[in-house]
Amino acid sequence: HIPQYISATPWYFGAQGPTLKHQRPQPEKQKQFSDIDEWYRRGVDSSKVTTKYRKGACDNCGAMTHKKKECMERPRKISAKYTNANIAPDEFTQPDLSMDYDGKRDRWAGYDPSQHRAIVEEYQKIEEAKRQMRAEKLN
Ligand SMILES: [Zn+2]
Repeated sequence: HIPQYISATPWYFGAQGPTLKHQRPQPEKQKQFSDIDEWYRRGVDSSKVTTKYRKGACDNCGAMTHKKKECMERPRKISAKYTNANIAPDEFTQPDLSMDYDGKRDRWAGYDPSQHRAIVEEYQKIEEAKRQMRAEKLN
């Protein structure tokens, strides 16, 4: 007589990894970190500059993204609400980034490699000017 608990193979027999759900990484409990290319948007959107005060905008500068209380601009003598002059462009709404250990310590986070091209071009112009000066000296 072979008992059933011996003849039937147990559910964990032959398993390569953990079989129980609480022993595995659960996708719903995994924390999602932001991508390496994600970063805060800088500057303002100057393509959509309005000339009229919009309802619900900042009284002081006229931007839609904040209120007068949070305005970073100098308080105007006559606010933009009444003058409709120099309405400030709207700021970008910033993404809420969640960083992992490496992301928090990334020294180059938010660096735009195309910025370096400007420096290279500037130095190329200097080299070109130096070459021309040397050629003039020889003449
Ligand atoms: Zn403002």
